[in-house]
Amino acid sequence: MTLLTTQNAKTIKGEKFGFATGILYMAPYTIAGKFNMCPMAEKAQCHKACLYTAGRGKFNNVQQGRIRKALYFQNDYEGFMNELASDINRFVNRARKENVIPLIRLNGTSDVLFERKGFTLNEKIAKRIKKTAGYYENMMSLFPDVQFYDYTKIAGRFDKQLPSNYDLTFSYSGVETYKKQVEHALKHNARIAVVFRNEKDIPAEFLGKKVIGGDDTDIRHIEPQNTIVALIAKGDGKKDTSGFVVGELA
Ligand code: SF4
Repeated sequence: MTLLTTQNAKTIKGEKFGFATGILYMAPYTIAGKFNMCPMAEKAQCHKACLYTAGRGKFNNVQQGRIRKALYFQNDYEGFMNELASDINRFVNRARKENVIPLIRLNGTSDVLFERKGFTLNEKIAKRIKKTAGYYENMMSLFPDVQFYDYTKIAGRFDKQLPSNYDLTFSYSGVETYKKQVEHALKHNARIAVVFRNEKDIPAEFLGKKVIGGDDTDIRHIEPQNTIVALIAKGDGKKDTSGFVVGELA
């Protein structure tokens, strides 16, 4: 099973180099298996407006693929992490051959604390990817020269030092039950992504912080901390009334 989905290389405005992103999309929340892939989803009420339904996620075969990956992760964790390591290695080598900078996003549609997901690289995969077999604290430590990034709804992830090659953007929701998480993220001066219903709903400042546009690219790690990154609602999110999406319904 191929675990990573490749997003076309994007060039940031004003930059000559391009990026290619390898994204792991697993079924979110409790859609697959017993494990909740998004522990804050109920507090944030985001499972109802999850980007899981946006774009290609609308198609049933895509959803089935994401369910298979989530079940693989839950039922054969070590096998999954080894195959993921092999996929990342292939993706990174290909990107570099094409002269683009590889980025890896492991929580395309999940919220797993990958910085705490240690695993043992087995001999077979280690040989294939030319690394040393043995225990690694997380996937980022196996690929120290590759940039990883994610969005998260779990503010507690900012309490501990993250791997230096792992960039996290906190994801906002205005739901009452999620307020403490937002306050916690603000205390850490995290970069916060906010989904607005329409372009016209985007203010110059939000939560007292400067707002920057984030829909041109998904390249967050080069953006400053302590800012609000404005995204526009997609899929079922357009109709969301939970508080996850900011802006009045038309
Ligand atoms: S945490 Fe993210 S991936 Fe999970 S349900 Fe919420 S929006 Fe979807």
